[in-house]
Amino acid sequence: MIPLVADLRSDTVTRPTPGMAQAMASAQVGDDVFGEDPTVTALQERVAELTGHEAALFMPTGSMSNQVALRVHVQPGQEVLCDHLAHIVRAELGAAAALGGITTRTWVGDRGRLDPAVPLALMVPDGGAYFVSTALVEVEVTHNFGGGTVIPVPTLRTLAQGCRAAGVPVHLDGARLWHAAVATGSPLADFAATADSLSLCFSKGLGAPVGSMLVGGRAFIEAARIWRKRYGGGMRQVGVLAAAASYALDHHLDRLAQDHEHARSFARAVSGAGGARVDLDRCETNIVLLDLDETPWSATGLVAALGARGVAALPTTPTQVRFVWHLDVSREASEQAAAIVVDLLTAGPAGDSPGGGGEGAP
Ligand SMILES: *Cc1c(COP(=O)(O)O)cnc(C)c1O
Repeated sequence: MIPLVADLRSDTVTRPTPGMAQAMASAQVGDDVFGEDPTVTALQERVAELTGHEAALFMPTGSMSNQVALRVHVQPGQEVLCDHLAHIVRAELGAAAALGGITTRTWVGDRGRLDPAVPLALMVPDGGAYFVSTALVEVEVTHNFGGGTVIPVPTLRTLAQGCRAAGVPVHLDGARLWHAAVATGSPLADFAATADSLSLCFSKGLGAPVGSMLVGGRAFIEAARIWRKRYGGGMRQVGVLAAAASYALDHHLDRLAQDHEHARSFARAVSGAGGARVDLDRCETNIVLLDLDETPWSATGLVAALGARGVAALPTTPTQVRFVWHLDVSREASEQAAAIVVDLLTAGPAGDSPGGGGEGAP
């Protein structure tokens, strides 16, 4: 067994801390399909208030949360506009089409950044009998495959104003919106106010084992409750999970700043080694994308070599590796991981394990 230095594949790999496990074990529960789980109800009210929206609905996953939102906003045959690297089009296995009959049209973004003029020019709010009607614009903050980038609140406001004028709602995939709020100092509610609905994850950097929250207006959430059950996401004594999420809000929100700091130090340390590059301007939160185009390494080759030295990461394209920070990676582990990455990049792929070939995982 290779001793693990740091598991930087994703911020989903965390395990409940002793305090979180205790909160889960002592949670008051009831049947939430009947609306009788007090811990879930309290969490829903808390997050609705935190985001300044009317209502919220606890969801098993971020994917279901997004997909239920899409299905409520968009009728079969209508379209959603989003960035070409959006999680909803790249990493939810075609659910919008497979389950909802929803079509998508994407714009080519710049690592998750947004020019609001682009979707506003693309949209067709009423396509009549010839064109597909745009029923939703979707944005992602922070942007996962963009490298944890943040769309600033003023930019989101410009989009919101244009969409409102056109009568097209906005859904915000805020799986890591917490990170955006901590990194920019803009309150979560300021981001949330620019969207008609949003989805937040507790299972990423916040460190809960499971759980997401869909947020929006009262009528939207009532409809979402029906679609959640229809999609198989009606959960029973799920207060055990809501308790973990609630604990995460109490104890793990402010510490996200540490993850951002560790990611940034790591990025500075590895960028330039052996010709590899990190776009430091885009290193805003807890994700680092390492570009290998100018190196002899392939993403899968480097990931395999890193794995052999106890550093776990994920290839995102054939020439790009993603590293993600979370509460189970200490500063020391992060520095050690950076040293290993620099070491390998500087040495180059070993003769007996060529770095070539291999398609990146999503
Ligand atoms: C992780 C993630 C989701 C949801 O993922 P699940 O694994 O289904 O909880 C949605 N959007 C983004 C941007 C994500 O990073």
